[in-house]
Amino acid sequence: MEYDKCYRSKAQIPNFDCLLFDLDDTLYPLSSGLATACKNNIHAYMAEKLGVENSKIPELSNLLYKNYGTTMAGLRAIGYDFDYDEYHRFVHGRLPYDNLKPDPILRNLLLSLPYRKLIFTNADRDHTAKVLNKLGLEDCFEGIICFETLNTPPQKSSVLDEKEHIPSSEVFDIIAHFSQPNYPLMELPITPIVCKPSEAAIEWALKIANIDPQTTLFFEDSLRNIQAGKRLGLQTVLVGTSHRSKGADYAIESIHNIKEAIPELCEVEMKSELNYSANNNSVAVETSVTA
Ligand SMILES: [Mg+2]
Repeated sequence: MEYDKCYRSKAQIPNFDCLLFDLDDTLYPLSSGLATACKNNIHAYMAEKLGVENSKIPELSNLLYKNYGTTMAGLRAIGYDFDYDEYHRFVHGRLPYDNLKPDPILRNLLLSLPYRKLIFTNADRDHTAKVLNKLGLEDCFEGIICFETLNTPPQKSSVLDEKEHIPSSEVFDIIAHFSQPNYPLMELPITPIVCKPSEAAIEWALKIANIDPQTTLFFEDSLRNIQAGKRLGLQTVLVGTSHRSKGADYAIESIHNIKEAIPELCEVEMKSELNYSANNNSVAVETSVTA
């Protein structure tokens, strides 16, 4: 009887031991302007480096992003060959990083939470380091899972040099594909790039970092990433809105609202205190939540 009571009580309290954070538009607000600048740079890369017609770029970029997680992953899938580092330098090199300011509130908040804390982003290592440095958060995380963690550099193409573009006839026409009435019956080409929201990418990231999804809170601004994480057992926090969409266990307007929106995160300290006073009064209570 006593055991049942304890068991039920404990089951109702999420037993977190890890916080997994997306980077862009999660640890800083969308209003910083980095996302818009990044999108413009991707479009410029498609025009200047891959020779994509300007009139097709917005639709093509949108279709690739929707179907492959990132435009970059989609470009590789449909047949464009390019150097990953060159791509990242081009799209991130000119971002308005100075719009990001040190965030001591977030820093103190993160340091006060006694859990494992990791970054999980589709962005590359240099960009991640720059953003964390600008926000003053570089020492707040145990580890970073980024583009390079999940993707090995491609073999140098034997048929293309840096200046050469793939002839358009060899590129899969995804715009034409989705213009066909029976497109759901046809399979899209597969990308060699591993990134969210692919379940394989998330599973791999969890394995690399030795993370148990059942005891991990996953913070993300992307609903599709949240939903993929939820399917894999993560407890999810949609960041950037107070509207809790399907797949999100919690929703917070700003990453600053973590403790208010998820008071369970404070259970570690509260449970320790409760346990102490309970033991003094010889009352049987559940053991404290471990962090
Ligand atoms: Mg994001």
